[in-house]
Order: sequence, then C-alpha cells, then structure tokens
Amino acid sequence: MNEGDVRFPVMGEEQLALKHEQIVTRLLNKVYDYVALVDLHKNTIYIDFDQVSDLWDWTNEEHDYDEARFSLTDHFILPEDCETFIRNSDRENLIRQLEERDEYIFTSHFLQPDGTKNVKMFHYYYYDREQGLVIASMEDKTSLLYQDPLTGELTRRGFIESAEEILRDEQRTEEFAILYFNLRGFKAINDLFGAEGGDKALRWIPRLLRQSNLHPLVIGRLNADHFACLVEQKNVNEEELMDLLHQTYVANNRSLDLYAVCCIINIPDEDRNDSVGSMCGAARMALNFIEDEYVKPFIVFDERMRTHYMERSQTAAELGAALENDEFKVYYQPVYDVRTGKIASAEALVRWQRGEGDMVSPGLFVPVLEENGRISQMDLFVERSVKNFLEQRHAQNQPIVPISMNMSQMDFYDKDMMASVLLDVSNTTVPLDFTRFEVTETAYSTVAENNRNALLDMKRIGVKFYLDDFGSGYSSFSTIRDFDFDVIKLDMGFVQKIGTSIKADGVIWSIIAMAHTIGTKVVAEGAETQEQVDFLTDCGCDYIQGYYYSKPLPEHEFAELLNKTA
Ligand code: C2E
Ligand code: CA
Ligand code: CA
Repeated sequence: MNEGDVRFPVMGEEQLALKHEQIVTRLLNKVYDYVALVDLHKNTIYIDFDQVSDLWDWTNEEHDYDEARFSLTDHFILPEDCETFIRNSDRENLIRQLEERDEYIFTSHFLQPDGTKNVKMFHYYYYDREQGLVIASMEDKTSLLYQDPLTGELTRRGFIESAEEILRDEQRTEEFAILYFNLRGFKAINDLFGAEGGDKALRWIPRLLRQSNLHPLVIGRLNADHFACLVEQKNVNEEELMDLLHQTYVANNRSLDLYAVCCIINIPDEDRNDSVGSMCGAARMALNFIEDEYVKPFIVFDERMRTHYMERSQTAAELGAALENDEFKVYYQPVYDVRTGKIASAEALVRWQRGEGDMVSPGLFVPVLEENGRISQMDLFVERSVKNFLEQRHAQNQPIVPISMNMSQMDFYDKDMMASVLLDVSNTTVPLDFTRFEVTETAYSTVAENNRNALLDMKRIGVKFYLDDFGSGYSSFSTIRDFDFDVIKLDMGFVQKIGTSIKADGVIWSIIAMAHTIGTKVVAEGAETQEQVDFLTDCGCDYIQGYYYSKPLPEHEFAELLNKTA
C-alpha cells in the first residue's frame, strides 16, 4: 500500500479534520496501512478500513472504543492472545504508557483466511498531547518481528530463524552450541539507573557478547533480559565464561555488579535439524538446575535435563485435555485450632488424576499451567468445586468449616476470571466467611501494582485473605502494612527448622508476636512432629496445618471427618 492510499477519516465536521491536519501529515509520513482515530473524550473511534471492508462489517461506522477493541479481538487476535490484547489495549493503561513513551507497540497474531496463523500485524498507537487524541493505527511492521527495537538485535523469532538457517546448512561442518543467558537482579538496574538506564544496559549486553572470545554467529534478545547466541563449540571456554557472566555496569558515576546465568547446549550433528525454539525453551528450563549461581553460574545441558524438559512438555500437552476431561480433584487439608484441638478451617489443594495412574501433586503441574496460561481455568474449577461442596452440605444442615483456596498471580491478570470469582462468592448460599483465598507474597507484590482492586472488591464484601508462604521469599513488612490480611501462613520452611537453633526458634516466636500485635492470626504450615506442635503452641500460634494432624484428604473422607468431629 502506498502513501496516497492512507486516508484520514472524515470526522463529520470539516473544521475538526482541519485541526487534525498536523496528525494526518505525521501519519502519512509513517505510511500506515490502516488508520483509526480515537477521541479520548468523546469515546468514539473512526476507522479507515476501505482496504479490508469485506472483513469488517463495521467499516466507516462510528464506534465506541471498547466495542471496537472487542471487535478487533474477534477478528484478528488468536484466542490465546486475547487476554494480552485486551489488557494492553485498555484505554487507561494505554494513555499511561503513551504519556511515558509517546508510542505503544505490540505484536499480535492474526489468522489468514485459510486458517493459518501468522504473527504479522502490529498495532501502533500514537498519542498527541496537544490534541488529546489517540491514533490507533495498524500497519504491517513485520520486520519488527525479526529486529528488537530496543537493542537492534534479533528478536526471538529472528534468532530462531537465523540460527536454524546456519544449522541446516550442510556446507557448514563446524560444531555448534547455543548459549542461553538470563540476567540476575535486572530490576536493581532499573531501580538504580532508571528505566532508560536499564535499556542502556540491555543494549550493552550484546556488545559484550560480540567483544568476547565466543565470537557469536547470531545473537538475539529472546525476551526482557534473556539473550541467546549461536557459537562454535570450540569458542566456549568455561573460565572465560565465568568472567563474562560477572560484569560491573557503570553509568552516571555509579556502578553495579551485574550477574548472569547461562546454559550451554552443545548441538550434536544429528540434532542440527531440531527446533531452535525448543532448544531455547529447554535451556531456559535447565537454568533451574544451576545449584549455586555464585559458585558456578553456568550449566551444560545434559540427558537429565532433556528428560525433565520432555516430561514437562508432555505434561503441558496432557494438561489441556485433563481440564476438559474433569481429571482434577479437590483435596482438603484440615487446619486445627491450637487451643480447642478442633478443625477450624481447611485448605483446598488440587490433585490431578492422570489417567489410571496415581494422583499427581500440584508441584508438578501448577508451574506448567502458569506458563501456558491455563492456571486460572483450573483455579476457577477449584473455586466452583469448593462452592458446591459447601453449599450442598449447608443445604443439608451438615457441619461446614471455612475453606481457603490458592490463587495464582496469573489470576489477577485475568479480569474475567476475577469477575467470575467475585460473582460466585457474592451469590453463594453459605455465609461469606466460609470462602477464603490464599495469596503468596510474590503474587501479592505483582498484584499490588496491577490489580489490587479485584482483591479490595472481595475484601469489601467480607471475603478473608491469607498471606501464604510468609517468609519463604523476599518477605517485606510493607506487604503486611499495605494490605489487611486476615491470616498469615507461616511457611513450612520455618516450622521444619524448629529445634535446630535458638535463632530459628526466635524468628518464629517473633513473627507470631508481630502478627498478633497487628491483630492478625497465624497458621503454621507443615507441622509433622509433636515437638513442632508443642513449640508452636508455646509461641501462641493460633492454628496448625500439617501431617501431624492430617494429610490432605479426598472430598468424601474430609466430609466424613467433618461429620464425625462436629
Ligand atoms: P501451599 O499453598 O503452600 O500448600 C501447602 C502444601 O504443603 C501442600 O502441598 C500440602 O500438601 C503440603 N503439606 C501440608 N502439610 C504438610 C506437612 O506436614 N509436611 C509436608 N512435607 N508437606 C505438607 P501440595 O498439595 O503438594 O501443594 C503444593 C503447592 O501447589 C501449594 O503450596 C500451592 O502453592 C499449589 N497449589 C495447590 N493447589 C492449588 C490450586 O488449587 N491452585 C493453585 N494456583 N495452586 C495450588
Ligand atoms: Ca496455600
Ligand atoms: Ca503455603
């Protein structure tokens, strides 16, 4: 499409169109394929879609911004990307980002008429401060798919294609390896040097790689602070790699130690036709096998990691079907009141009945579901199961206790999911106090920035929240100060150290005292021995959950337990 084809949509009033001439010129200079205009105040959007009128039944009509957005979603965005698209095109969010950067770019996939997937169309929004207008435009910026605008290096896709081209070339007889890098503590750079400083540091990484003795054949930034390069095996020297992985970044008279971890995949000749995308995925996973990154920050990919990766991919494939086939079961682990010795509540824990085999524990599949974006679907299933369980028993006048459910941080990004949960809990026939949610500190810290309202809405109607795994990650008192958690769950790690040192015991004692000072109850998790229970009781811990009392039980066993003890 050439420049002349880009038309500025008629705004109804000629005057208005004139006023926007400036913008039109700018658009023409950029050679957009399609032009859409969004008025921030009037809530309307004009789209010039002459070129694709057959695809868009709403061509040349006046549209509400959200309506247009959802229509785009239906036509052009693959189902798995809808969530991201909706989030990224949220007007408020958009304006905030545009204010900061003047532009907003993201990829989107689109479906060819023959059904093939294509990552091609980019949506580009431009915000004009003076005019108070957002111009939403779509143009084919396919080249951007291959080149990372930030570093000028190859993108994930570009890297994969270029590396595969070399590996498939039979003329080349060298032995190749892929090195996959992940920066550690990159957030510290952004904190210390600002976002721009962070960007600079990211541009500096490929330069370092290029200057090194690795002499990379291809370099790519695969996402955020993940880089990869294709090299000749003979250029990989472990000692030099050690040095390369620890750098001092200096800017504005300040310096910061920068660490990275790396996975080396040596590619045997017979694997040269394998997908480089999978190799990168496997390398990324293998980084978890690094035991002590300060002692040895790199790892060479081996058979053990390959098996793990294959199992994980297999699991991912089976999980999709498992959700449809009702293979998930909810187990309940009772939580005991230390003073009365009675069941005070229970935690719902999911299990996967994989085929005819044993129950698979969530440690194996929750991370996979989080990665492939289906965790919310599962959490919603758990929430519905718990709701049914409680409602049925309540209706039959059988005893019930409050049940807490685990929320993944991904849930908070899923507005539909949160809306469904809110609707469910507001409509439940049991008193609200019986529905509770557990949020980990890490999850909360992402929520705090993004979607705290979802939590506050539920809190407002009386839903209780537990702070899960307290003390297991980067604990910070600001979490407790920031949100009024009803219960703190002391991480199992603490409980299992009871009696090993005065320090360990002292920490537990003071966490419980601190919680009580701010009016929060404490559940200790993972108590297995009499000694642990006694110590926790002496510390004034309110509730205990652990194998000492009971393992998580299938629904019918838990129901029997409730009937017996109530
Ligand atoms: P979590 O929320 O910290 O759950 C407590 C885990 O500790 C459970 O493991 C429980 O079985 C285990 N546990 C309880 N008492 C003891 C004990 O005395 N000794 C030992 N060794 N372990 C004990 P589980 O069921 O394997 O769950 C693991 C994690 O998976 C959970 O950790 C939670 O983060 C996640 N998870 C479980 N169900 C769900 C769910 O429905 N949705 C989401 N998003 N995550 C879930
Ligand atoms: Ca939990
Ligand atoms: Ca926990």
